[in-house]
Amino acid sequence: MELDWLIVGGGIHGVHIAARLVGEADISPEKLRIVDPGSRLLERWRDCTETTGMSHLRSPAVHHLDLDPWSLQHFGGKRKGRARSLFAYPYNRPALSLFNLHSDQVIERFGLEALHIQDRVVECSVGCGGVDVELLGGAKMLAQNVVLAIGAGDQPRWPEWAPRGTRYIQHVFEAGFDGWPTEKESVVVVGGGISGGQVALRLLNEGHEVHLVSRHALRQHQFDSEPGWLGPKLMTDFYREKDVNRRRVLISEARYPGSVPPDLRRALRRAIEQKRLSWYQSEVDSVKVEDGGLQLQLATGMMLEIQRVLLATGFSSRRPGGDMLEQLITSASLPCARCGYPVVDKSLRWHPRIFVSGPLAELELGPTARNISGARKAGDRLVKFARSSI
Ligand SMILES: Cc1cc2nc3c(=O)[nH]c(=O)nc-3n(C[C@H](O)[C@H](O)[C@H](O)COP(=O)(O)OP(=O)(O)OC[C@H]3O[C@@H](n4cnc5c(N)ncnc54)[C@H](O)[C@@H]3O)c2cc1C
Repeated sequence: MELDWLIVGGGIHGVHIAARLVGEADISPEKLRIVDPGSRLLERWRDCTETTGMSHLRSPAVHHLDLDPWSLQHFGGKRKGRARSLFAYPYNRPALSLFNLHSDQVIERFGLEALHIQDRVVECSVGCGGVDVELLGGAKMLAQNVVLAIGAGDQPRWPEWAPRGTRYIQHVFEAGFDGWPTEKESVVVVGGGISGGQVALRLLNEGHEVHLVSRHALRQHQFDSEPGWLGPKLMTDFYREKDVNRRRVLISEARYPGSVPPDLRRALRRAIEQKRLSWYQSEVDSVKVEDGGLQLQLATGMMLEIQRVLLATGFSSRRPGGDMLEQLITSASLPCARCGYPVVDKSLRWHPRIFVSGPLAELELGPTARNISGARKAGDRLVKFARSSI
């Protein structure tokens, strides 16, 4: 198969970029494909968000997958009579159900599911006629341009003390996660960020005995970085910094990992004060798996006897893409910063034929690159490039 554009990854980023290329840059759908292992587009997003039990997004309503920034608000407006809580205060944050319905509508309008190849790219190499791509299933294709929209979704962060392959210790963001308790249980949630908090509240609402273990106190931030990073207020200085290694420091300082927005913090504090939720600020030392239960040893000396551990410890910060990307970097001599992440130009080009989005675009797009707003920024750059090269 010969393509103009091949997008690797059918998550939030891959889907938005596909919609932008078809809808704004007049790329012919026949010449574009999205490769993603999910049974349908956005599968990782749907699985991860559903597990947390979150009702609304953390980001505002202008961050979505369609072209027009007001599209989601118009879409929600049409449903006003049916549900009141479609947008939450503050910042008009959309309900997850509304965001997903709207995303489905975008996928349908641009016919993107028909462009989805359910597979995984295992090899990518740059040749004279384009980029040669090989899929796990054995298919080969040639693309003039490849967008690497590989998020961190495939690499949940596992703490060292947590053994893998045990039914009763699972990471809530692991692909194929099936560790949600069906009967009343005593459960430890590990992770003091937004996902840990949401998972703990969902378990409480379902009647479980819940313990929440966090390395730090509840850190309150509305967003995972200051809104100033969305525009020139903070990005101007970021662009002035030409040293990509210092840009990495700026990104690390700007992001608030393990933080919770004020409404979630209030709900957690209430549950702790009412003694419905047990809260421990500690590292975990070890876990002992015994017939019929688990013993979790905390660094504070406390031992918890429970039936299940759910890890809500986020995603690993290492560069996504694994061996496939490693080989591509070596074969095409692609530049990387000390942190291992791509050094790209303003069009997000890592190579004349290879573009990036999401975490891989962080050193160009700044601290919001991984978010939905980052997908929109990447879309702006790619559309500009695609239009200029027609
Ligand atoms: C629970 C949760 C809530 C969030 N809420 C918000 C929010 O409210 N607002 C916001 O802005 N952000 C939010 N985020 C952050 C971010 O927007 C999401 O993580 C988003 O899903 C990232 O999209 P992505 O496309 O980069 O990555 P992913 O969702 O990880 O998608 C990438 C896809 O690429 C695929 N892939 C990887 N390697 C290959 C390969 N070699 N070949 C083919 N396919 C491959 C993966 O399988 C995956 O399907 C949230 C994240 C989580 C986990």
